[in-house]
Amino acid sequence: MKTTILIIEDNEQNMYLESFILEKFGYRVLQAFNGSDGLKTACDENPELILLDIQLPVMDGYSVAREMRKQAHLKATPIIAVTSYAMPGDREQALAAGCSGYIEKPINPDTFIHQIEEFLIGTKDGESYGKDPDC
Ligand code: MN
Repeated sequence: MKTTILIIEDNEQNMYLESFILEKFGYRVLQAFNGSDGLKTACDENPELILLDIQLPVMDGYSVAREMRKQAHLKATPIIAVTSYAMPGDREQALAAGCSGYIEKPINPDTFIHQIEEFLIGTKDGESYGKDPDC
C-alpha cells in the first residue's frame, strides 16, 4: 500500500510541483488548499506525513499544527512546515507550534524527496495511536 502524504498549500504552483514529485516517487498525495480543510483531511485520512504551508487562508499553519497535535492519532505524525526562505522567524514558530521540522520554500526539486524520506524513516516503527473519535 502506498504511503500517504497530505499537502496543505494555497499556492497552485507549489501544490502542483510538490504533488508531481511525490507522485513520481510513488506516494499517494492528498491536497488541501486552506488550513481548515487540511485539518479535516488529516483527521479523516490519517496520512503518514503532512506538508504544511504557514501562510494559509482560513487558518494559518501554526494554528493547524497546534490543532493536529491535540488529536491522539496525529501526535506522532511528522508535520513538516514549508516556510519561505525570506521568513526565518517562521521556523522557530513552526517548531513551537508542534511541527517536526521544516523545508525551505521554494523547494529544491533535486533534494525534496530526500528531505521527505528522512522525516519518514524515523516513524516507520513508531507507535500506532488509533483513531480519535473526537477528531
Ligand atoms: Mn501560502
